[in-house]
Amino acid sequence: MNCSLSLATSDACQFIDITARVQAAVTESQAKDGLVMLFVPHTTAGITINENADPDVRRDILQHLDKMVPASRDFRHFEGNSPAHVKASLMGPSLMMPIMGGKLRLGTWQGIYFCEFDGPRNRQVLLTIVET
Ligand code: ZN
Repeated sequence: MNCSLSLATSDACQFIDITARVQAAVTESQAKDGLVMLFVPHTTAGITINENADPDVRRDILQHLDKMVPASRDFRHFEGNSPAHVKASLMGPSLMMPIMGGKLRLGTWQGIYFCEFDGPRNRQVLLTIVET
């Protein structure tokens, strides 16, 4: 089964917790056991799993990515958004995780984050749910 989530980001760089929305799509699919693959069809956004308890973890990752990929570098890309492209590749465009008993089998402290690096924009996350 395929479906998608629509997101409207509000900042240039932002992590958005989409865990509950992915779980809702899994619940709607009625898949009990299987896999969900999440795919971000954008070149300046990515997706990752990280801590869902302390929001400072997200802030620290974003700040560290800024230090790793400073806007002041001599980039050639005509759009002027090369840092966003580099950060998107560092996070990656897809994730896959298990579904067990109708639930995403994430760790206690794990959340799924859409990673905006060139917002604000309207974005999508594509889901492919495979029951096994
Ligand atoms: Zn570009």
